[in-house]
Amino acid sequence: MTELANNGRDCSSVTVNFTKLFINGQFLHSVSGKTFETIDPRTGEVITRISEGTKEDIDIAVKAARHAFDFGPWPRMPPSERAKILMKWAELIDENVEELAALDTIDAGKLYHMCKAVDIPTASNTLRYYAGAADKIHGEVLKMSGQFHAYTLMEPIGVVGHIIPWNFPTTMFFLKVSPSLAAGCTMVLKPAEQTPLSALFYAHLAKLAGVPDGVLNVVPGFGPTAGAAISSHMDIDKVSFTGSTEVGREIMQAAAKSNLKQVSLELGGKSPLIIFDDADIDKAADLALLGILFNKEGIYNEFEKKLVEKAKAWVVGDPFDPKSQQGPQVDKNQFEKVLSYIEHGKRQGATLLTGGKTLGNKGYYIQPTIFSDVKEDMLIAQDEIFGPVMALKKFKTIEEAIKSANNTRYGLAAGIVTKNIDTANTMSRSIRAGTIWINCYFAFGDDVPFGGYKMSGFGKDSGLDALHKYLQVKSVVTPIYDSPWL
Ligand code: NAD
Ligand code: MG
Repeated sequence: MTELANNGRDCSSVTVNFTKLFINGQFLHSVSGKTFETIDPRTGEVITRISEGTKEDIDIAVKAARHAFDFGPWPRMPPSERAKILMKWAELIDENVEELAALDTIDAGKLYHMCKAVDIPTASNTLRYYAGAADKIHGEVLKMSGQFHAYTLMEPIGVVGHIIPWNFPTTMFFLKVSPSLAAGCTMVLKPAEQTPLSALFYAHLAKLAGVPDGVLNVVPGFGPTAGAAISSHMDIDKVSFTGSTEVGREIMQAAAKSNLKQVSLELGGKSPLIIFDDADIDKAADLALLGILFNKEGIYNEFEKKLVEKAKAWVVGDPFDPKSQQGPQVDKNQFEKVLSYIEHGKRQGATLLTGGKTLGNKGYYIQPTIFSDVKEDMLIAQDEIFGPVMALKKFKTIEEAIKSANNTRYGLAAGIVTKNIDTANTMSRSIRAGTIWINCYFAFGDDVPFGGYKMSGFGKDSGLDALHKYLQVKSVVTPIYDSPWL
């Protein structure tokens, strides 16, 4: 692809209605009165200015969330009532799908047609999944030895702080907010500074749906100020974070140094896609365009050719253009970071098969880039690039593939492409990662726990595991006298 697809609509056709902090059911200016720019990565131009939350604003939001938890109706109402409100919110999201999709497209450069068909409808279904779980939260009865018995209660953990990244602004918001609301928690969420727009719209819809004031607070701002105020807050009971490994480490330290709040971290990954020589080449190449690669030697050359062909036909362009398959990088920082990895790849001796350049004369577009002959110690093989850059490696034996896949500090996910069930079974048991995709890639589901092994973090999003992240177990013990079943 040498030219940008640009058949999109103008960003000015999207009206941004919510730019202030959402605290205790109201849109408010920040205490300092400061604002920050949010940028359209298609052009590098400012979309609008957003109220900038800092420590003082986080304190006010936590007070509201604390009050709503300690005295408000949310944790106390029948769970079926909570479920009704979450269902109503999901409906309102579906009714506003086009506007919400447009917000993520102008703010994050995400493909409009994907947001509209996938990200937003999936998010409202995530809400429905946890709405359905809200009235199925229960403990156990335990027959103790001796003249006692016990039961356990699953209680909401309290006030939660959520800190999320820019790569999936809508998905991340609902992966965090839905299970914690269903559990009966109250919360303060800080969206990424690059992508605050849709989060504020979701807060507005939550209020319309009947989420009581103070239960959900959304405070945009920067990591070292607003984010750090969450992780070090003395009155937040749990912090749930998705983002980089470096920041995850800081959050855990801040939690330890303040009130030992519980922490769950979803961090970076270096997720390989391992292609065996019995794979369907066409399908494997399509999956590969989604991931970072290892390939069995026998298939390597033919596969490489197919992949380059497909990458060259890949349409990069305005994310509003329905033909586009890839939009811009989210901001200038990320754009420059990806380009510097491409330079490292070249300098360290990997072969650049295709791509490697920027596209267009404004915005943050990069060609799909494929490196071959990548060695394990090269930076592009070790670091998470988070951009359209693929690194191809060969392997001879299954043992070599396992060793190579596990030769990373990360363990988020891995893909395997093979028709041999024994190979698939051996690989999926041997790779130390939280998700294994067999003959597919990036396949997610509300009921499928997602989260890392090793330095990719701990604590799952999705599934009932995520609901339990926001619950704590209380054991109640009482004597039983003269029971016939002792
Ligand atoms: P980042 O870690 O810098 O930022 C993520 C969030 O943390 C943002 O909201 C940011 O404001 C906040 N933050 C930054 N510094 C903070 C601090 N000191 N205290 C509290 N909060 C702070 O991540 P990024 O570079 O913006 O995003 C990309 C990275 O996120 C990728 O490199 C990838 O590793 C990771 N990521 C992981 C997953 C996953 O599913 N595991 C998903 C998306 C992104
Ligand atoms: Mg960052």
